[in-house]
Amino acid sequence: MLLRGRRLVHLLFAGFAVELAAWYTSQSLEGLLQSEWARRTTAALTVLLPQFAVHLFQAAVPAEQGRTTSSGELRRFSAMVGAPMLVLALSPYHKHTLALTLVYFYVFGLIAAALVSLARRGQKSSSRTVRDRVRFLVAVGSLATTFTLADFLSFLGLKLPPIGAVLAIVFLFVLAESLARPRLADLYELVGRLLVATVLAFALAGIFYGFITYLGRFGAMYLNAVLAALVFLVLWEPLEHEVRTRIHQFFFRERNDLESSVSLLVRRLAHALEVPEMVDTVLSGLERSRRMTRCAVYLLDTEGNGFDLAGSVGAAPKRIESLAIRPLAEKIGKSLSLEDPERAKDPALVAAAATLGELRSSVVLSARGDDDELVGLICILDDRVRDAFTPEEILLLETVGAQLGVALANSRVYARMKDRDRLAALGSMAAGLAHEVKNPLGAIKGAAQLLEESPHDPSSREFLGIILEETDRLNRVVGSFLDYARPNTGNAAPIDVNAVVKRTVQILSSQEGGVEIALDLAATLPRAKIDAEQLRQVLINLVQNAIQAMSGRGVVTVATGLKRARAGRGPFQGPASERSGRSEPQESIEISVHDTGPGIAPKVLKNLFVPFFTTKDQGTGLGLAISQRLVQNAGGIIDVQTQLGGGTKFSILLPAADETAVPAVPEPAPVA
Ligand code: ADP
Repeated sequence: MLLRGRRLVHLLFAGFAVELAAWYTSQSLEGLLQSEWARRTTAALTVLLPQFAVHLFQAAVPAEQGRTTSSGELRRFSAMVGAPMLVLALSPYHKHTLALTLVYFYVFGLIAAALVSLARRGQKSSSRTVRDRVRFLVAVGSLATTFTLADFLSFLGLKLPPIGAVLAIVFLFVLAESLARPRLADLYELVGRLLVATVLAFALAGIFYGFITYLGRFGAMYLNAVLAALVFLVLWEPLEHEVRTRIHQFFFRERNDLESSVSLLVRRLAHALEVPEMVDTVLSGLERSRRMTRCAVYLLDTEGNGFDLAGSVGAAPKRIESLAIRPLAEKIGKSLSLEDPERAKDPALVAAAATLGELRSSVVLSARGDDDELVGLICILDDRVRDAFTPEEILLLETVGAQLGVALANSRVYARMKDRDRLAALGSMAAGLAHEVKNPLGAIKGAAQLLEESPHDPSSREFLGIILEETDRLNRVVGSFLDYARPNTGNAAPIDVNAVVKRTVQILSSQEGGVEIALDLAATLPRAKIDAEQLRQVLINLVQNAIQAMSGRGVVTVATGLKRARAGRGPFQGPASERSGRSEPQESIEISVHDTGPGIAPKVLKNLFVPFFTTKDQGTGLGLAISQRLVQNAGGIIDVQTQLGGGTKFSILLPAADETAVPAVPEPAPVA
């Protein structure tokens, strides 16, 4: 797999691995065959070992441009001493203690120097990933070298368990992983687990070794093994915990720190209800992690046209337009690392990232709303290092974006609840106030009426007239407001709509002068469930509005009829019908008030049912709002159709209460 890459470093790695394997093999053969040939091969391979190590370590982490290193000198030095050492190892003096010591120092001295040089280059690297990687390599490499050194001491008469070979394999594995998977998410996890397992394996072996070597007097190998296993099983949990914690602390310190700051941040974010508090929590949490130099939080504006800067550490653009950032928004998913060299190949993405200014190479996290809509962006940048965040760290950071999305959705619900509570409180206060106003109004009106009866000069009389007129108007407004604020649920019962309409029109006709009110009643009509008095109130309202709109001239037609809705799609989706859980009716009773007035301008149409919206000097602006409320309470709706210059038609649509049709009065005649 490594040779497929065909890069120098891969070839060197393959060479090093083969060399190491050959070295161990020839040592075994030498021990077995005791032949001169095997001895010479081992000697040659021993001398070659550090040569490979020096070149491989140099190629694995090359020095960054512009930095001076001692690795070049080390290579030259190793080449220089390599040849005489080879000659010495193959010479007849090779068994001389001085020769052995020299070769020994040459091999381990050079490997140690290569490791130190590797460690230095790693430390100086501007990439955090390279730094972490090198820390691993050097730690495992040093262990492997030290224990191999110890293996050699055994040749000199010291008896130690041969663990150098095991560690050399672990080292090769770590090295291969780090070369083959430059951005692999689970590299650290894998290597971390391997290290924990290795340390535990050595602990286990050590316990067995101790029992078998020093307590050998029990004589029974089996018993010793059982005792050792017992001790190990008892120690297993605390030992495993301790080893894992230590290794994580040593190798994953930065990630551990990030993990604890992110989990604290996410916990705090869950309790934030106001948007500024959330933004502050995110920024201060990330700042506390000490893993960024710049950071910004952007939130979608109310129109959805772009993202406004909600807060930042360091300078950041005030706003990002949705259009400009679209390529990024399309690709982002949960997060997007703009530092990734792969991204640089996508020109649209590069252009989108450029709108982020200084944050163009940051890690961008997304916050999403209920319907997965992108509602916020968090940009995090650490410009002190390259590859500032490993893939697992980015996964960890994604939880911050996700939690921000949840917190933003919660804050909207909270704001709505607060608004509702505020409005409810305001409503009951206003209703109380209206009552307080009504009583003194009555007194003022009474006093003004009394004054009006006594003789006065004409101007005083006029002022008294104004007082009376205005108290009447105030009374009307306050009365309507109370109707609106505390609507009477009424006594809803199935009624004959035609009869109520006819009676109401009769009353209205007797009051109105110049306007003709025509009746057009349906022959048969099912009953509708609504309070008759409330329906009358709505009708009066609509007819009076129509008459006022026509400035006293024209025809108002009040008609009733049956409207059949398409199956399953009745017109009644108002709150009352939802509340009652009734299936949507197929038929509805329509009561329409059609005038020949000037029609309604779009600006007015938009606010028609808004309380207190009026275009009239003497209007309260509550007529239609109350009408709508009453009709909706009966499970119906009010519809309006209008044409400028062509009149207006208001329709009340009520669900039919039952199928009992009520015959109408025979001749629907206009009532003048
Ligand atoms: P008010 O009649 O006290 O103004 P309403 O809520 O009944 O309050 O009506 C609100 C507004 O709707 C009126 O001021 C008027 O401008 C408009 N409006 C209502 N009915 C008609 C109609 N038939 N033709 C034109 N405009 C109308």
